[in-house]
Amino acid sequence: MESRKQQRERSDIRFPIHFIDLEAQQSRLQPGLSEAIDRVLKHGAYIMGPEIDELEKGLSAFCGAKHAISCANGTDALALVLMALQVGAGDAIFVPSFTFAATAEVVAWVGASVVFVDVQPDSFNICPADLKKAVEYALEQGLRPKGIITVDLFGLPADYDSIEAVASSYDLWIMDDAAQSFGGRYKGRDIGTIGLATATSFFPAKPLGCYGDGGAVFTDDPDLADVIKSLRVHGKGEEKYDNIRIGMNGRLDTLQAAILLQKLSIFEDELRARQIVAERYHAGLKGHVQTALLPGPGDRSAWAQFTVVLDHKQNRDRVMKNLKDRGVPTAVYYPRPLHKQTAYSCYKREDGALRVSENLAQNVLSLPMHPYLEAETQDFIIDAFIKSLVQ
Ligand SMILES: *Cc1c(COP(=O)(O)O)cnc(C)c1O
Repeated sequence: MESRKQQRERSDIRFPIHFIDLEAQQSRLQPGLSEAIDRVLKHGAYIMGPEIDELEKGLSAFCGAKHAISCANGTDALALVLMALQVGAGDAIFVPSFTFAATAEVVAWVGASVVFVDVQPDSFNICPADLKKAVEYALEQGLRPKGIITVDLFGLPADYDSIEAVASSYDLWIMDDAAQSFGGRYKGRDIGTIGLATATSFFPAKPLGCYGDGGAVFTDDPDLADVIKSLRVHGKGEEKYDNIRIGMNGRLDTLQAAILLQKLSIFEDELRARQIVAERYHAGLKGHVQTALLPGPGDRSAWAQFTVVLDHKQNRDRVMKNLKDRGVPTAVYYPRPLHKQTAYSCYKREDGALRVSENLAQNVLSLPMHPYLEAETQDFIIDAFIKSLVQ
C-alpha cells in the first residue's frame, strides 16, 4: 500500500498546504510592492508621510465611513475609541467571551468593567438575548452600562438589527471590533459604518494585512475623529508640543501604509475569492460537520477564517491530529473563552451564563483559508477532513 508520503508526492497539489498564503499574494503584487516601499525610502517621511493620508482616504472610500484614522495596531484602535469616549471606572462595557483577548483587554486598560456576553452557536457572534441579560446583571452590580463592543468573528458581521435594539433600549453605544471583518457587509451596510465607531487590524494574517502591525478606526462622527487623531499623537492640540489630553504614540508607519495601499487595490477581488473558497468548503463538508454560516442576503463575510464545529473536544483534537498527519494545517480559534482566562476570571457573570462560548472553545477547528487556495488543494483538504472524521 502507498504511504501517505508517496500519495502526496504523486498528487498535483503543492505541499506544504498553507493555512494562509501570503507568498502567493506577494508574487501577485510585485513589482508594485517593492516600488511602493522604494518610494518611501526615497522621500524619507517615515512617520505620517504622504501615504498615510492616501491610505486613510482609500479606506474611507472603500467602506463609506466619513473618517478613517490609521493607527499602530488593532488593539490601539479599540483603545483609542474608549479613551476618546472617556470610558473609565464604574462603566460596564459588554464584550463577547468567545473572541481574541484584545477585545476585553482595552476595557481593562481604561479601568472600566468587562461584562462578558455569550455568543450564538451558529454565527459565533454576540448573542442579543444574552446581551440583554448581561446589561441587567451589570445594573444589579451597581455598574453604569455604557457600550457594547461587538466582534464580527471570523469575518461574519454580528446580528446588528437585534444588537441595535438592545443598545437603544439601554442607551448604549456600539463599537465594532472589525479586526477580522473589514470588507464585510451587514444587510447592505458596509463594515466600518455600523455603530458609533469601528476598529480594525492590519496584522499580517487579517483579511487586509500589512507586513507588521497596523490598524484603523472608522467613524462618521467628526468630533470623535478629531479627538482620536489627537490621542494617537500624545494628545496633541494645535501643534505637536501642545498637549491638551493624555494620549499615546499610536501612529501607523508610512511604510505599512504604502504596503496597505498596494494590498487595498486587490482587496475586493480577494474578498470574492474568499467567498468562493467558503462556498466550496460549505458544499463539500455539509452533512459531515457543522460549518461556518454562509452570509445571508445583503451580507458579506470577510472570511478571516473558515471554522467548523465538532461534537466534542476529543473528536476535535483527534481530527486535528489526523489532518496534520495528512499534511493539512488547522488552528483552534479560540481554545479558551476569555472568562476562563486567568487574567479575566475576575469579571463574573451568573453561573452557566457563558455555556456556548465554553462549548465552542472545546469543539471548533479552523481550516486553511485564503484567496489563493486552489480547487484541487481544497478538494484534498475536504477529502482529508472527511477521512479524518471516521479514522
Ligand atoms: C487581531 C484582533 C485584534 C487585535 O489586533 P492587533 O492588530 O493584533 O492589535 C482585536 N480583536 C480581534 C477580534 C482580533 O482578531
